[in-house]
Amino acid sequence: MSQFPNLLEPLDLGFTTLRNRVLMGSMHTGLEEARNGIDRLVAYYRARARGKVGLIVTGGVAPNCFGWVGPFSSKLTDQKEVVHHRRITEAVHQEGGKIALQILHAGRYGYHPLAVAPSRLKSPISPFKPWSLPGWGVEKTIDDYVRCAALAQEAGYDGVEVMGSEGYLINQFIVKRTNKRKDKWGGSFKNRIRFPVEIVKRIREKVGANFIIIYRLSMLDLVKDGSTWDEVVTLGKKIEEAGATIINTGIGWHEARVPTIATSVPRGAFTFVTQKMKQELSIPLVTTNRINTPELAEEILKNGHADMISMARPLLADPDFVLKAEEGRQNEINTCIACNQACLDRVFKRQIASCLVNPVACNETEWTFDKVSKAKKIAVVGAGPAGLAFSVTAAERGHEVTLFEQDSEIGGQFNMAKKIPGKEEFSETLRYFKTKLELSKVSLKLNAKVQGRELTDGGFDLVVIATGVRPRVPGIEGIDHQKVVGYKDVLQGKVEVGEKVAVIGAGGIGFDVSEFLIHEGESASLNTESFLKEWGVDMKLQERGGLYHDTQIKRKPARRKIWLLQRKKGKPGAGLGKTTGWIHRATLNHYGVEMKDQITYKKIDDQGLHYERLGQEVTLDVDHVVVCAGQESERGLAADLKDRNIPVHLIGGAYKAQELDAMHAIKQGMDLASRV
Ligand code: FAD
Ligand code: NAP
Ligand code: SF4
Repeated sequence: MSQFPNLLEPLDLGFTTLRNRVLMGSMHTGLEEARNGIDRLVAYYRARARGKVGLIVTGGVAPNCFGWVGPFSSKLTDQKEVVHHRRITEAVHQEGGKIALQILHAGRYGYHPLAVAPSRLKSPISPFKPWSLPGWGVEKTIDDYVRCAALAQEAGYDGVEVMGSEGYLINQFIVKRTNKRKDKWGGSFKNRIRFPVEIVKRIREKVGANFIIIYRLSMLDLVKDGSTWDEVVTLGKKIEEAGATIINTGIGWHEARVPTIATSVPRGAFTFVTQKMKQELSIPLVTTNRINTPELAEEILKNGHADMISMARPLLADPDFVLKAEEGRQNEINTCIACNQACLDRVFKRQIASCLVNPVACNETEWTFDKVSKAKKIAVVGAGPAGLAFSVTAAERGHEVTLFEQDSEIGGQFNMAKKIPGKEEFSETLRYFKTKLELSKVSLKLNAKVQGRELTDGGFDLVVIATGVRPRVPGIEGIDHQKVVGYKDVLQGKVEVGEKVAVIGAGGIGFDVSEFLIHEGESASLNTESFLKEWGVDMKLQERGGLYHDTQIKRKPARRKIWLLQRKKGKPGAGLGKTTGWIHRATLNHYGVEMKDQITYKKIDDQGLHYERLGQEVTLDVDHVVVCAGQESERGLAADLKDRNIPVHLIGGAYKAQELDAMHAIKQGMDLASRV
């Protein structure tokens, strides 16, 4: 008997049956526009279909050039483009899967000068002011949606998803915030929803009854002047009547200032919205956002809160998610930690997406991990992300791997990262690696701080140094004063930190340590109600857009007073991820953390931290100064082995501390393992 009977239950749509309740949510990968991207895209979708996803939804495809997300992004407007798409649909069908094409018109989010919208209003997240669509232009756009759906059908897709949420064109028609029109497409609510309803109705007329139409309904706009709940319900009913097969949940416009998918968002935090909609509609409903384990997905379905579960990033992280759940191997699932680092942050930089925990994602054709004909005896030193990724991959290829770790547990710096409120997911990566170490028969030696001699005398053919980094100690007068502590000591609970704290260094770790100190002992990310309250989301759904006004939000006072400092000029945290940096800055602002740039540190003494800023001398009367001033490679062992005639490779932080993050560490570990 499966542990996930609801998740794995087929869904009968009348004219077709989906093999289970997992919908792979739409994700733009950047392969769509890349040279030779189609081969990689085919392999990428094939892998997810082989992993038994029930229904895949492609990344957004524009119905015309005006709807491009960026210049020359993917579109489906004529017969010539059908050929490429057919390769994708054939691959998915060969693996027994089903796939729908998402039709996405970016409207005023289009990052190009051709962008159009219901009204000529620039969005706060795009530099381009859109052109207002004339009445005939609206009609033409609807025709383009219909043409796109018909071409998708011709290309062999099982259906389309009409993207009606996240603040894109359709959403822009629906709400007064962005629709100031006076014709039949604006004004009253009835007029404002005419656009999406006509799109679905006319697509249905064109494609016939036996074709899936998913409509992504913006159930919670999370912006000022968004839809009311009654309006959302009314629209949902109209869309159902117009011929949609499935309704998918959309949460939050891109310009909303509420985190909706970041790692700090509690798992399944927005499912309450789909649950409420279930009472209103009769066609299958999909719930979404921060559902990353089969256990949670099963629970939601079992409770009847939705009919399907949308997972997007979790299927980047592990294409075999469903297969593993089906075979009772859920412990082997490489869980998405919702960091956005290798997926969304890269796509926003117009780079090809991948995944921090699974660098093979979107690179399926680029890497091979063939079994080796002759096994090598390999020693790996350091069980941080780099050493773990290398060890598991090398062992799976057939090498005999011994992994030495000086601590009593694997994980390296991830053991500190997972202690940050809102970063609890990082422990999933360690659970995954622990399982994989066992399955791949890596010989793990904990509490083993190795020296050069043990390695040279151990009969190893190869040594991989993955010893990571050590914190940088800046040359500031008084750096050895008793008020000064390192971030490791703070996060490992070795010091009792006072009420007033200066943090030196506003990089990723400086921000994390500040969050740790303001929230100490509590994480809103583990409690949906606290989290939504903190960000002003109205769980009763009585406020327009589901959002309280700023003055209605009551937050707990910060645990400490914190100053977060950096030497360089510019916004602290500018180097954090594009999609998450604003969340970290907003959180610290909410709790009164003072973030300052252009600091020249002078000294630390009994009075506190002395610095100069813009010609002014300042003394911060603090109890502690926490040093988060970056890191340096820990590679003494490599120097030790230099003259001992044994091949040595350095990976992760041991190789290079600058610009190191877990994404680089894991990728480098796997890359080396693919070559030895
Ligand atoms: P490490 O993780 O440093 O691992 C090195 C390992 O080697 C350690 O376990 C150490 O004990 C062991 N070792 C060292 N010397 C020896 C020896 N002689 N014998 C045996 N064992 C030895 N990165 C991100 O990408 N995203 C984030 O959000 C993020 N958040 C972070 C938050 C915090 C609080 C911290 C501290 C780090 C964070 N990082 C983050 C950074 C990320 O964790 C590191 O980039 C990554 O861990 C580096 O991996 P590594 O394997 O090279 O080194
Ligand atoms: P970092 O991001 O490079 O930040 C180091 C900070 O220390 C900078 O603010 C730097 O700013 C300051 N600094 C450097 N040398 C200094 C000196 N000699 N004296 C005083 N200040 C100094 O490194 P990190 O914070 O240690 O993070 C390590 C890695 O982990 C990074 O790659 C980071 O991306 C990753 N990480 C990521 C996240 C995330 O959320 N994505 C979270 C944590 C860590 P000034 O030089 O201007 O003072
Ligand atoms: Fe998930 Fe991070 Fe991978 Fe994106 S990069 S899929 S957020 S683990």
